[in-house]
Amino acid sequence: MSVHEQFADDLALYALGLLGAEERQAIEKHLQECPHCLQELARLRQAASTLALSVRGTEPPARSRERLMAAIAKEPHRTQVRSIRQRPWLIALEWTAAAAAVVIVFSLLQERANLRQRIVSLEANAAAQQRQLTEAKDLMVTLTSADAERFTLLGSKTPLPPQGKAIYVRASGTLVFLASNMPTPPPQKTYELWLIPTSGAPIPAGLFKPRPDGTATIVRPPLPPGVEAKTFAITIEPEAGSSAPTSAPIMVGFPG
Ligand SMILES: [Zn+2]
Repeated sequence: MSVHEQFADDLALYALGLLGAEERQAIEKHLQECPHCLQELARLRQAASTLALSVRGTEPPARSRERLMAAIAKEPHRTQVRSIRQRPWLIALEWTAAAAAVVIVFSLLQERANLRQRIVSLEANAAAQQRQLTEAKDLMVTLTSADAERFTLLGSKTPLPPQGKAIYVRASGTLVFLASNMPTPPPQKTYELWLIPTSGAPIPAGLFKPRPDGTATIVRPPLPPGVEAKTFAITIEPEAGSSAPTSAPIMVGFPG
């Protein structure tokens, strides 16, 4: 058994400030030369202060202290144990009593913290309900008031029409497309641009979704060179795009 083990029980009581003056002096002297006990003390103090912080208030800790004292007083061998520390079983017994006392203190502190939390939460609920009631009353008073004036507000402008511009160089098959005032497409849908050739099926010329300001661009989509374009068109397609239009065009181009 190492020397500091005889201080193990006192350490818990010391951390809680419950040790008598004589024992306190003894343990403080030991702490100066024992890093192990010092570390253990820090751990116990942290546990105690964590609980103390969450509790705030002095009354229950005082009560817990009484309980702790009572628990210690019930231990009949305690005084005797102090005089014959060298017997390991007695030290173990003493340690058990101290540990039990610490558990009692901590559980009382925890119980109080839980109660306090419930009170705070109930108070918050009551305040929120009171606020809602006041708001509802205010609303009713306003709506039913004989003095109430009524105004209906409408938008001052209809949205600008969507517009698209396709700039196409046939020889190289290069295309730049710019759009504005485009509404957001339906969910899981996208806009698809089509090159409508003078002969043959429409050729996919890129997918786009407008930015929040309604603008969109397609720059140099992969197109075969040399295709003569009759016009360009836009359809709404599933998000992954289609290889051939699946719906009627919502916009069709004309030269200019
Ligand atoms: Zn020690």
